[in-house]
Amino acid sequence: MDWQTFLSKAGYRLSEPRKTIMKLMETTEKPLNPLGIHRLLREQGVHLGLVSVYRTLELFLSLGLISQVFQQDGLVGYLPSSFGHHHFIVCQNCQKAVEFAGTEDMQDLIQRIRAETHFQVREHLLQFFGLCPECQSLLKDGEKQ
Ligand SMILES: [Zn+2]
Ligand SMILES: [Zn+2]
Repeated sequence: MDWQTFLSKAGYRLSEPRKTIMKLMETTEKPLNPLGIHRLLREQGVHLGLVSVYRTLELFLSLGLISQVFQQDGLVGYLPSSFGHHHFIVCQNCQKAVEFAGTEDMQDLIQRIRAETHFQVREHLLQFFGLCPECQSLLKDGEKQ
């Protein structure tokens, strides 16, 4: 189901700000934060208040249409994501983020956490940093010169 269908079925209007922001997020590979979205839209001649940007991101996030991606500078960005169990890997060179299905078996780790902390484990937050294929070859070419 695409996000438009999902939004309508959830009872939300396909308003212009929602369309504009989702379109922008779908065309970027790098996580966007509210200020960045606001700036990019202004550059495109779209005047959308920062409050609207925040509200729209909040709605998308609460519906699971986008996910938080943690950036190296400590800021949190957002990207469209699939439903269900998934994680992101973020390139440390170009900040591009790619989603992958979460299929990791963490039973051993969860057992250990339970034994150590006596907590009931309910969720986890996992994200990787690395170098994307493009940046790997870019850096390799740089070494040769
Ligand atoms: Zn990269
Ligand atoms: Zn996971």
